[in-house]
Amino acid sequence: MSASAPVRVQHLIGGEWTGSPAGERRNPARGDEIVAEIPSGGPSDVDAALQAAQEAFPGWRRTPAPARGAILMRAAELLAARRDEAARDLCAEEGKTLTEATGEVQRAIDILRFFAGEGWRIAGESLPASLPSTHLYTVKEPLGVVALITPWNFPIAIPTWKLAPALVSGNTVVMKPATLVPVSVQNLALALLEAGLPPGVLNIVHGRGSVVGDALVNDPRVAAISFTGSVQTGLGIHAAGSARLARVQLEMGGKNALVVLDDADPEFAASVAAQGGFGLTGQACTATSRVIATRGVHDRFVEALAREAEAWRPGDGQAAGTRMGPVVDRSQLETDLSYIDVGKQEGAELVTGGDCDDLFLCPAVFTGVKPAMRIAREEIFGPVIGVLAVDSLDEAIVLANDSEFGLSGGIVTNDMRAAMRYADEAEVGVVKINRATTGVDLNAPFGGVKSSSSGTYREQGNVAVDFYTRLKTVYLGT
Ligand code: NAD
Repeated sequence: MSASAPVRVQHLIGGEWTGSPAGERRNPARGDEIVAEIPSGGPSDVDAALQAAQEAFPGWRRTPAPARGAILMRAAELLAARRDEAARDLCAEEGKTLTEATGEVQRAIDILRFFAGEGWRIAGESLPASLPSTHLYTVKEPLGVVALITPWNFPIAIPTWKLAPALVSGNTVVMKPATLVPVSVQNLALALLEAGLPPGVLNIVHGRGSVVGDALVNDPRVAAISFTGSVQTGLGIHAAGSARLARVQLEMGGKNALVVLDDADPEFAASVAAQGGFGLTGQACTATSRVIATRGVHDRFVEALAREAEAWRPGDGQAAGTRMGPVVDRSQLETDLSYIDVGKQEGAELVTGGDCDDLFLCPAVFTGVKPAMRIAREEIFGPVIGVLAVDSLDEAIVLANDSEFGLSGGIVTNDMRAAMRYADEAEVGVVKINRATTGVDLNAPFGGVKSSSSGTYREQGNVAVDFYTRLKTVYLGT
């Protein structure tokens, strides 16, 4: 698990590690450091993984759910014992700070523990029957083989929050991690195998989305697909999966707004906005990318936010004291820089930031942003916040909801009535009052509305099991 020597990443198929290196991943903070050598799978790897998952399903399904949970619990303890190494690997492959990476690995450990407990609780219900001497009840059954397709920005947390409910419910899995972050998923798999997960229950195929992901999505052996990533990819997966009646869950992008009202302390509001917008290098689906401030606080807020931005200097995530890591790769940097150019061309004022050294991008703050501007409408996925000025809470809510996305949204105010009105009217899946738009608890349902989500099922919390199970109704006459 060391980040100093390249990790040999392999596919996991039927309990065997296979595949030769076809590419590499470098540390975004240290371009000369090769973090991992990675195979690139093709249709035959997907076929073998699906076959292994299919063969493992009957045995795994028959394993009592508490026993399945016990394996997750053991995996949690094994990962906990290696937490610092796993965090260093995550930091090296994705670039986020060691503090953020450690928090993310801890999150994965806690998710495994949480769903281990769910093994004791996955239950149907008993119902009154219309006929005498008849028992009527429901059971939650696993779906079969499920495909899990994950993005690069949470290399271990997102795979875990899909995998843990899928496994504890009795499904077998083929996972396709993002190509930029192959190591963290391998660390998770190593812990699960060592904890006693039978061969074939979890399979991993690395490789390009258009090859491995596409083959998975279109294979009739896959009963359900859980995807987190961009809207464009998600819509293609939805079309293909739904056409053959596979169950599909999509969690996608955001253009998350934070409303700041006149009564807010501008320094506190700026710290909330910066945490949401610059934490994780702005590379979070729940990142704050718009602030909608009423005019009485607007100027003082912008001054405070500019000071915050200047304090979030980017650096090597592994160096002590770094608050913000590099952008994940050159392609994402180019996206960020192009949006910074677009913002200037559209007439917004760049108050601070936007300059970069290699992949280290200084957080950018724009003012004078208008609702029609692209930087107010499109997901950037970088440390860029645009501030819009409004006259009232009414106008703020209209603007906050004027988005194709609806993932998270926040408000900073001490006015309880205003906060609760915002909570009622915000068209989002998660509302944060006086807290950053990022950061969610693992025991609470998570997901978006509008183009942020397929809106079918929520992830996280005990309801996450619903996506991975179906109800069967049983009538028993005696
Ligand atoms: P992406 O859509 O490019 O890739 C996501 C995954 O899909 C990767 O594993 C990729 O290889 C795979 N993929 C690509 N093409 C595919 C295809 N044709 N068929 C099947 N799979 C395919 O997204 P990304 O750049 O990795 O992640 C960033 C995006 O993820 C952002 O939009 C962000 O908002 C979103 N995200 C959402 C959440 C959430 O919970 N809502 C969480 C994190 C990230």
